Amino acid sequence: MHTFNQNFSWSSLRHSIFTHCPLAYYYHYYASWGGWESDADSETKQIYLLKNLRSMPSWVIEIFKTILLESKEKRKSDINILKRRAFATLHRGICDIRNKEYINNPKNINLIELYYKQATIQQITTQAEALLDRIFANFAESKISKTIEQIPYLKIKRFERPASFYSDGIQTWSTPDLVWEERGIIYILNIFISDPKTYSNWAIKNGIDAIFAETKWKGRKIETISLFPNLPPPLPFISITQNKNELKSIIRQSANNMLKLTNLDTDIQKENFANFANHNNCETCKFRELCH
Ligand code: SF4
Repeated sequence: MHTFNQNFSWSSLRHSIFTHCPLAYYYHYYASWGGWESDADSETKQIYLLKNLRSMPSWVIEIFKTILLESKEKRKSDINILKRRAFATLHRGICDIRNKEYINNPKNINLIELYYKQATIQQITTQAEALLDRIFANFAESKISKTIEQIPYLKIKRFERPASFYSDGIQTWSTPDLVWEERGIIYILNIFISDPKTYSNWAIKNGIDAIFAETKWKGRKIETISLFPNLPPPLPFISITQNKNELKSIIRQSANNMLKLTNLDTDIQKENFANFANHNNCETCKFRELCH
């Protein structure tokens, strides 16, 4: 049994960033802390701005996800209306980027591709529109769109997000996109932008959400569903059963690796993380201007 510092908590996102690069993890969770304060020093403000950059595909999928989940709350699921609303959100975001709204508040949308001048705003707008269009087309053709449309409003589970549970004494966060119950089965839906063949964290996230659901709704069968709407049918979604012990071991090992580099009772040392930096991922890293 391990003893962990009480302030430490774990999530699949944290695990994903740490796996990407321990130094990026340091920037994301520690060096950016307080960067939202008006009297923060300029380096902290800069790191906080970088932390809030998003890639165009992850922004587009977030728009799709938000509109889709809102439609369940508002009980309106006509796909053409959802698509119009998604495009309106996208265009508002592009307008905010043009107006550099992120300078006053880095939580406002800004994209990695624009920050690092990999594309012009016109090019990124065209690419984002094409991706959103493709996502809606794939979704409309997929079996899961009917399943989601038919979920009875009253069967949707509502709870405070993020939710957490304890795994071997480690507070673990869970953020399932949509949870509902039908005939004694709890269904968990998560929507991802990545390709499941190259991005393994989706399975870990589903498993964590499944353990959370088991803890919260005891005695129910749990079914997790993953949707990758950027991929064309016939790969609309994957449903998996998780090995709980394997997942708990991943949480334990991952938390141990993070805590080895962190002593929350003392200063957090950048060098500890820099020694384990993963330079294979620099090309796509949002923090790359800090490292070169
Ligand atoms: S640029 Fe490279 S070394 Fe620096 S944080 Fe990112 S992945 Fe790590």
